[in-house]
Amino acid sequence: MQTHNLGYPRIGAHRELKKANEDYWQNKTSLKNLLQVGKNIRKKNWELQKEAGIDWIPSNDFSFYDQVLDLSLTVGAIPERYHEVALNKENSEMDLYFAMARGYQKDGLDITAMEMTKWFDTNYHYIVPEFHKNQEFKLLSTKIIDDYYEALQLGIITKPVIIGPVSYLLLGKEKEEGFDRLDLIKNLLPVYMEILRKLEPLDIEWIQFDEPFLAMDISPKAKKAYQYVYGEIKKEFPQIKTLVATYFEGLKDNTELALSLPICALHIDLVRCPEQLEEILPLVPTKLSLSIGIIDGRNVWKNDFEKSLKFIYKAISTLGENRVMIAPSCSLLHSPCDLHSESKMSSKIKNWMAFAKQKLDEVVALNHLAKGDKLYLLEENKSVMKSRLTSSLIHNPEVKKRVFSITDKDAQRENPFSIRRQKQVTALKLPLFPTTTIGSFPQTPEVRSWRAKFKKGELSAVEYDALLKKETEESVRWQEEIGIDVLVHGEFERNDMVEYFGEQLKGYVFSENGWVQSYGSRCVKPPIVFGDVSRPQAMTVYWSKYAQSLTNKLMKGMLTGPVTILQWSFVRDDQPRYQTAFQIALAIRDEVCDLEAAGIKVIQIDEPAIREGLPLRKADWQAYLNWAVKAFRISASGVKDETQIHTHMCYSEFNDIIQNIADMDADVITIECSRSQMELLDAFADFNYPNEIGPGVYDIHSPRVPSKEEMVDLLNKAKAVIPVEQLWVNPDCGLKTRHWPETKKAMIEMVAAAKHLRQLVKEEVLS
Ligand code: GLN
Ligand code: ZN
Repeated sequence: MQTHNLGYPRIGAHRELKKANEDYWQNKTSLKNLLQVGKNIRKKNWELQKEAGIDWIPSNDFSFYDQVLDLSLTVGAIPERYHEVALNKENSEMDLYFAMARGYQKDGLDITAMEMTKWFDTNYHYIVPEFHKNQEFKLLSTKIIDDYYEALQLGIITKPVIIGPVSYLLLGKEKEEGFDRLDLIKNLLPVYMEILRKLEPLDIEWIQFDEPFLAMDISPKAKKAYQYVYGEIKKEFPQIKTLVATYFEGLKDNTELALSLPICALHIDLVRCPEQLEEILPLVPTKLSLSIGIIDGRNVWKNDFEKSLKFIYKAISTLGENRVMIAPSCSLLHSPCDLHSESKMSSKIKNWMAFAKQKLDEVVALNHLAKGDKLYLLEENKSVMKSRLTSSLIHNPEVKKRVFSITDKDAQRENPFSIRRQKQVTALKLPLFPTTTIGSFPQTPEVRSWRAKFKKGELSAVEYDALLKKETEESVRWQEEIGIDVLVHGEFERNDMVEYFGEQLKGYVFSENGWVQSYGSRCVKPPIVFGDVSRPQAMTVYWSKYAQSLTNKLMKGMLTGPVTILQWSFVRDDQPRYQTAFQIALAIRDEVCDLEAAGIKVIQIDEPAIREGLPLRKADWQAYLNWAVKAFRISASGVKDETQIHTHMCYSEFNDIIQNIADMDADVITIECSRSQMELLDAFADFNYPNEIGPGVYDIHSPRVPSKEEMVDLLNKAKAVIPVEQLWVNPDCGLKTRHWPETKKAMIEMVAAAKHLRQLVKEEVLS
């Protein structure tokens, strides 16, 4: 039985790549230095995998920015707008590459970046390939060959990794009408053939084609493309061993297709879809090997060896040892690098975890154990599993009991919206087109420096508190002055909308170095839910109460919702996700009730991540939506009718889940809308969305200040499809990444736009 790995984190154990990239972008370091940093990381990664004892180590999994962008450069899919950048002799291939990733503003050129979107259901973002009718491809960058050769020079025969041609096309977007990007397969395949032709004489044995779409819902045309592509490759390169990797889902209805491909090995994800093994084993043709992904590449927990060995034995007993390979479920790109760099974490909890480097050891350990070697490793693992299963750190009987006794009533406001609305109108006395913001105000370098100093002990708690109070008071005064109706305190005390809550909840732990690439040089350090979640004390009441004490106007309380907290954390794998979501929901519910008791009359529970949590297969959507909506409702339903609950979501396509959004039953929802010119609102209009809604009128992703007139236009568009009594006026999202000058200007324009609309409606009524 052989071991292999699908990909290793490329940011470097101490985020070396981030620093090198950013220095290069700011002209602080040379191209030569940047390339050297890449080379060092690759060398380290290969050697570390070799030392761990992995048989087939990946190459070409390294990327300076993104592996999909690498492939676009490799196959010459360069959108026309970058041609001038490429023609400029002073620019290197890397400059063209970064121009595509980040845009280009130099030499009198001003070229936008390529679009970025989420990689399946991960928090990694890739650069979306752009396709045109009759597009031609040609081998432009030889990175895959160079990287393979580089490893060879170090004495390591690697398994080059490349996104398969069908998935590559499916990941992209048609930039003009009248064609289907899958039609480009005939033009694209020759470039793959050329790559193979160049790799062949270099003694390659295995090559890995990532085809995650084989585990998604795909069209008959895509299925045909799979047969065509791998048939052609087999014809021309019968001696190269091709491994097709699928992950993040089960093969399900594509099982037959995947097993019929003339390839040498197929990788399946047994973490996401363990039940597929049983189904697949009897169908595996005699020439095919099966790679089973048994170590979770998407989470931070130690593998349960007993469970994995069962999978291994089952596979071996049907296929024989020679036709089984073991590996992590997917690329380790989504795992933090090395648990050994954690020095502050409780050693008990740390002992339950495995980061990328430790996961390699697990793969190798399982290989030994399957052969009957090193049995002490199994005993060690069993005792870790047992300690986690029974630890009092994890298990809080009270929390479990509370989740167990949740009733339908807990997920239900006292009265339906129509009744609540009447009471809220009386209690809140808001004008038509009430104005508000989404919560955060600019996190200036000053605010961030206070937090850093406070964390380092250079500022005392009292000093830090005084500075935040001053900042909060200034923001309250300013909102009063320009005439905002529902104020916010500004969230100056928060580092991040999930971390802030995680730090105050029980059951959470934080890593010092658990960075995972999010996009380009941006890395995130997701908090880790290891145990039952509970709220030892109020988390936000102090700041909301303080802010409310400064003003007679309404102060909105600001919380992150249970689904978003769940979605942006590493979550425990010893209970279903919905249970963790319900535990968080109860904690948020208590916070909502405490805010109400403290005199806060409007409370926002942000759920920007509810849509991105959708399962990859449509058949699984409803089950997820049922518990996700319920979790939100549990958090929102502890208050009286007069208390107004808001929710907020950013960049979302709402069409296919509008019923579920309505089911959340928030009194007010604010959404991102301005870039789409209110098009996103159509879903709400067509549905006759019954509750109140604030379509964003200010694009907060840009430093540009929109004029009152622009916002009036947008609001008129909204007014054409949504009854005026239901409309709010607000920006697209929080203002934390903006600067104060543009924020102030934009908010003054926004208030003026709302006033204009009020006047307009008054005149309409009179005439
Ligand atoms: N309340 C948060 C803020 O204003 C919401 C952020 C978000 O939707 N991502 O920053
Ligand atoms: Zn938002």
